[in-house]
Parts: sequence; C-alpha cells; structure tokens
Amino acid sequence: MTTRHETAILDPQLYRPDFPILNRTIEDGRPFVYFDNAATTQRPRQVIEAITTLYETHYGNVHRGIHRLADETTELYEGARERIARFLNASSETEVIFTSGATAGINLVARAWGDANVHEGDEILVTELEHHSNLVPWFQLAERTGAVIRYIPITDDGLLVMEELERLLSSRTKLVAVTAASNVLGTVPPLPVIIKAAHSVGALVLVDGAQGVPHRKTDVQALDADFLVFSGHKMLGPSGVGVLYGKREILESMPPFMGGGSMIREVRMDGFTPGDVPYRFEAGTPPIVPAIGMTAAIDYLEQVGLERIDQYERQLTKRLHEELEKLEFVRILGPTPEYKSGIVSFVVDRIHAHDVAQVLDSVGVAVRAGHHCAMPLHKRLGVTASVRASFYFYNMASEIDRLIEGLDRAVRLFRRRK
Ligand code: PLP
Repeated sequence: MTTRHETAILDPQLYRPDFPILNRTIEDGRPFVYFDNAATTQRPRQVIEAITTLYETHYGNVHRGIHRLADETTELYEGARERIARFLNASSETEVIFTSGATAGINLVARAWGDANVHEGDEILVTELEHHSNLVPWFQLAERTGAVIRYIPITDDGLLVMEELERLLSSRTKLVAVTAASNVLGTVPPLPVIIKAAHSVGALVLVDGAQGVPHRKTDVQALDADFLVFSGHKMLGPSGVGVLYGKREILESMPPFMGGGSMIREVRMDGFTPGDVPYRFEAGTPPIVPAIGMTAAIDYLEQVGLERIDQYERQLTKRLHEELEKLEFVRILGPTPEYKSGIVSFVVDRIHAHDVAQVLDSVGVAVRAGHHCAMPLHKRLGVTASVRASFYFYNMASEIDRLIEGLDRAVRLFRRRK
C-alpha cells in the first residue's frame, strides 16, 4: 500500500489534518489561507504533542541536576543535538550549537569569530539579496573593526551577477555571508559555486539557511559551508530556538561570545576557563523544550520528504506566477520560477502593499506586506514595499485562486476611490 509519504506528487490534503490551525475559517465560513510561511510556519499536532508531553513528563534543567528529571531532560536535549547533526549530515554533534534563532546564530559568528579574525581593511562580502539579520551584524562588525562591507550585486530580475564574484573576491575577503534563498524574491543563489570561489581565496562562508533548510535537503558536508544558521519556527518547530552549525576546527578556534553558566570549564576568583565546543557557545539555560521540540518537526519533515516539499512548492510558485502574469496591474519581483523557491513578491500598481494585504486579509488570505526586513533589496528594485506570498507543503493550488480574488477586490476598491 502506498503511504501518504510515498505518492509521486505531494498531496497537501493528506497532511492538512495534522495542522489544527488550518481548520480556522473566516466570517463567511471559508477556510483561512496561510501564505506567510516565510515569516513563520504552522505546527502539526505531532510537534505540539511532543512539546506538551515534555512539559508533562520530562522537564528539568539540563547538564546540572543529579536527579532523574534533569538526567532525562539532558539526554533528550543532547539527543536533539545528535538528531540535528544527522539531519544536516554534520560530521559530529559538537558542530551543532543551539541558539535562539538564525539572527542569534549570525550575531554569534560576527562576535565570536568576527572580533577575533577580522581587522581594519578586511572585507566581508554579502549580497544585495540579504535579510537585515545577515547585514546588520556585519555592519556592526565593520564598525568595531574598520572592515569593509562589499556586495555581490543582483540583476534587475533579482539574480546574483556571478561574474562580479570573481572580481570582488581577494585575499582581503575574510567572509562571504550569503542567503540560501531570498526571503523576498525566492531567488536561490548557486551556493556551491560561491563557496568554492570563496574558499579559493581563503575566505570562510556563512550560509543564512533560514529560508533554505526548511524547504530543501541540506547536507553541510557536501555544501562545505563553514557556518550555517536557521530557525526552528520556520520549519514546523517551536519559536525561540535555532541552530548554528560550524565546522568543528573553526568553532574550536573561536572564543566564547556570551559568558555565564554552562559555558565554562572552571571559574576562579580572577577569571575563567571556557568549556569545550559546543557548550562554550551555550551560556545560560538553553531553549530546552524548543530544541527537543525541533526534533519532532524534523522527523515530520523527513517523513514528508524535503525533495518532495521543494518540488511541490516550486509548482505552487509557477502557478502563482502564471496567475499574476494575467493581471496587468501586478509587477512580480525577482526571477522566473525556475530560479525561485516557494516565495513570490509583487507590487500592485498604485495601491500600497499594506492596503493590498489588508484587503487580502478581509477575504481570509494571510500574506506579508512591507520591506520584509530587506530594505536595501527593495531600494535596489526601486520599490519601498511589496506583497509577499510564501508557501509551505500544506498549501493548496486552489488557495491561489483566493489570493487572485482578493487582488481583484483590492483593485476594485482602491481604484474606485481614486
Ligand atoms: N534570514 C532570513 C533569510 C530570514 O527570512 C529571516 C526571517 O525572516 C531571518 C534570517 C531571521 O530569522 P529569525 O527572525 O528567526 O532569527
């Protein structure tokens, strides 16, 4: 018998019953449509139950207790680290550091690695696609050290100008920080090419996997990135937890960033000796339940199959592109669907993105509107704000019709007023 995880094409109807929140309806009784998955995804019952069970049965602080609840919780927490290492194909669980999210992971690298290794005149290479989380920590590092930020530019279609990469890379480049997928345009940069080129000049690479890891299989050894960050809440998991993956020898060379309990080997009256990796980077009580809860999300995602998820979301992207292209008042931002993940941003002629989103909400369609924490990218594209629809595997092609209906309504409402 074929199970729901084995059908050639992913059928969202087989997964939706696992997500209680998808049962919500709007005033007219129609189901609510959730197209804001790049901001945060929803959780299946399996994840919610895993969290509840933890609080009900196995909860204590980790790494410190001499009692069974603390021991059991520590075992589960360290088990989560091993599970995530397997999920990423990391060579050791010591390469997995729990953080509060992608943003915290990037800041950790900027502080711990950046302050020790980046000096005046050194260069950090980013792209014009980046989220503020992968820009501001580098600006702050540059302010502290006198380093220079350089950009790999994009074309008007939102693709990286790869010829510029060779020109920008030099012995001054210390780090290339690049997204696995633009949270605005959906553009998927050619990471293997970028990583190889960066390594050829001795630069390290940080991949912002916030929009990549939840949607595509990520093998850190094959990718050869030096650092990778992502957030649990964008992949069916709890909020308040994320992961920083780092190559072990690099992590071992880094001083701790935050000080406190758990990150030390010894504390004396006159100083301290830091603990080993990864504990050195996990000062204080870590996000215990969210970290363990993340493994339930990973189990779920792996059952659905990340290749199928990627393939299915790209189909939705293609479908939305086809529908939006029929509307003369819409300008789609970014490249054609074959270069995109499940994210589509657009602007509506003479109607502000916030107004569009409000009308869409009135017909029960949740999208994001604004600059999506990517102001430089919007400036580059010559717009101040956009509307973003972002998919996950529980979205259905029929829901796209609701979005189109909402756009028609927005145009009728706002054009009449003007
Ligand atoms: N990077 C990208 C590409 C994102 O889309 C986001 C969140 O939207 C982040 C980083 C930051 O993630 P978090 O807010 O979970 O730290």
